[in-house]
Amino acid sequence: MTRVFNFSAGPATLPVPVLEQVRDELLDWHGTGMSVMEMSHRDKPFMSIAAEAEADLREVLGVPANYKMLFMQGGATAQFAAVPLNLLNGKAADYIVNGAWGAKAVKECAKYGKANTAAKPDKFNHVPARDGWKLDPNAAYVHYTPNETIEGVEFQTVPDVGSVPLVADFSSSFLSRPLDVSKFGLIYAGAQKNAGPAGITFVIVREDLLGTCNPVAPSIFDYKSVSENESMLNTPATFAWYVSGLVFKWIKSEGGLAAIGERNHRKSSLLYDYIDSEPFYANPVAKADRSWMNVVWTLADANLDADFLKGAAKAGLPGLKGHRAVGGMRASIYNAMPEAGCAVLVDYMKEFVRTQG
Ligand SMILES: *Cc1c(COP(=O)(O)O)cnc(C)c1O
Repeated sequence: MTRVFNFSAGPATLPVPVLEQVRDELLDWHGTGMSVMEMSHRDKPFMSIAAEAEADLREVLGVPANYKMLFMQGGATAQFAAVPLNLLNGKAADYIVNGAWGAKAVKECAKYGKANTAAKPDKFNHVPARDGWKLDPNAAYVHYTPNETIEGVEFQTVPDVGSVPLVADFSSSFLSRPLDVSKFGLIYAGAQKNAGPAGITFVIVREDLLGTCNPVAPSIFDYKSVSENESMLNTPATFAWYVSGLVFKWIKSEGGLAAIGERNHRKSSLLYDYIDSEPFYANPVAKADRSWMNVVWTLADANLDADFLKGAAKAGLPGLKGHRAVGGMRASIYNAMPEAGCAVLVDYMKEFVRTQG
């Protein structure tokens, strides 16, 4: 069996040591005689798995004590609804839209209340400058997408929005570098890009923002109820919770988010430096706003796209097709993608230019 370098945008590659541990523990977790998949979420073994994952995530990300951590389901897409249902509280919300996911988030909010688009560039190839944002000082929150997965555009710093709670969809850059959680009212992320398998969604919310949920919201979306029931208001995604917990431990063993962030920066620089040096390839994103997680590029001749992808898959480099909305190529290089994967990709790109460019 050979592992490929999987550049899929999500579900995405996971650390090999995590997969190996899952394999080793699959039939008998720590002498219980059963798989984590088969355990009651109310019994001690799973309760300990859940608590340890939460403690490790708190440690890795440096989550302050006045924040609750929720392990929910429904992905970021469910949070597009849950956030306004919990936080609007009769007010309006501001949305920064700098890509396809931000556009979906603001559209969902508009079902439940007033959603202002406070900034939206004509082209999703840069982060809109902060001084052009039309923010409402009385907004319930300001929502943005730190990393737009489809366009490959990423905020390099956390924007200052004053005292209005800042809410962020971190789905594709969660745990990719150090983060000051205290600057946020709420952050959320589906696990399947950078932190685990599909099925679990992390919500980290400042305590004072709980308790204003719209009464018509489904109970499983009410952050306060979920928090009071320790994310076990209903059966949680137990296996995804367990695997994510192993990923948090892996991050610790790799040196934590500082080391992970440096590596991610090196990985993305390797690709951007090569793309910028080779006229056959082009990246459309403003240099200062390029994503460390999703590197997009086009070929000088789009008629060669299919050949490029076919050759890449044959070379053990699958998952490079750009999102259908933007075309071209995209390499998703989340935490678990080794530096060697990016180097092999650059070699393949060089060879493709040499033979077909
Ligand atoms: C993938 C992604 C989503 C959608 O996530 P689901 O878990 O499929 O709902 C939302 N936002 C961003 C930034 C994403 O990358």
